[in-house]
Amino acid sequence: MEKTKKDIRALTKEQLRDFFVSMGDKAFRGNQVYEWLWQKSAHSFEGMTNLSKKTREMLEGHFVINHIKVDQMQRSNDGTIKNAVRLHDGLIVESVLIPTETRTTACVSSQVGCSLDCKFCATSRLKRMRNLNPDEIYDQVVAIDNESRLYFERPLSNIVFMGMGEPLMNYNNVLKSIEKITSKEGLGMSPKRITVSTSGVPKMIKKMADEQVKFNLAVSLHSAIDEVRTSIMPFNEHFPLKDLRDALQYWYAKTKNRITYEYVVWNGINDTQQDVDALVRFCRFAPSKVNIIEYNPIDDGEFQQATSKAIAMYQQVLEANGITVTVRRSRGKDIDAACGQLANKS
Ligand code: SAH
Repeated sequence: MEKTKKDIRALTKEQLRDFFVSMGDKAFRGNQVYEWLWQKSAHSFEGMTNLSKKTREMLEGHFVINHIKVDQMQRSNDGTIKNAVRLHDGLIVESVLIPTETRTTACVSSQVGCSLDCKFCATSRLKRMRNLNPDEIYDQVVAIDNESRLYFERPLSNIVFMGMGEPLMNYNNVLKSIEKITSKEGLGMSPKRITVSTSGVPKMIKKMADEQVKFNLAVSLHSAIDEVRTSIMPFNEHFPLKDLRDALQYWYAKTKNRITYEYVVWNGINDTQQDVDALVRFCRFAPSKVNIIEYNPIDDGEFQQATSKAIAMYQQVLEANGITVTVRRSRGKDIDAACGQLANKS
């Protein structure tokens, strides 16, 4: 029986060096292979041209390189690109390239499906199948970087973990992927250009703070009133706002990094003065800013974007209280690539 081969990219550089030594070869071969795998994104051992044929065959006998494959690419009329990404076991996730005048942002997935149950989000209807490995997250970024160079003639500038899944429920792999993205041996990107977005898992926010991470944190808040938040994001019952608030204060004390609250305003759900006042109070707990995002309808009309009057009220009250607020238009709606629309539909 053929023994199952290991995914070579699950090995650290040190482990690769040790492997070569255990095979009676030189440790630095490990460095060469590591460079092929991560900096040069090699898809096969055959292409590792500075290794002898014998070494390449030996690697072939022991390992596989599990690369993602962009199965389908769709382009929106606003320039946004959505990739359907096939993983080695046939499962599919989606990632999005969002171009603006000055930036190209990659929106990447961290899980296949999602275990949370936000009522307004299409991904929540796919049950969580599994976590992505660090290399599967990394590969999505590399694929988008390539597309950015090809179609926009510039490298990728920013990354947001706002695709499918809850990044903090796949904490270790997300952090490992960011290590790789920011390391000189990977893409060498600055962590300041990376944002991890979470529905708010207090324990993990504190853990990140303890680890003194350098990337940005965004929290999908949508309401600063427990009953309202629980009605649209039922897991809030287990992670109430009080715990979230403690974790965020802890985050700021440790990292001095301002938090972004993502917020959609819906008709009849969170569009009253009382809702805005609660948000203002919540924003006072730690230095923060608010990003009001447009609602992207996912189906049956249960949720409807609030009137422009309600959104203007939010903007005005927040500003009057000295809170920075931006109102963001959605991108890529025509190809179901906008926030909350990723559901492997196409
Ligand atoms: N689980 C993470 C990341 C994925 S969601 C999180 O919750 O932050 C990325 C963002 O899209 C979140 O702010 C989420 O609340 C928002 N979102 C989800 N569904 C949406 C929809 N239909 N319209 C607009 N934004 C949506």
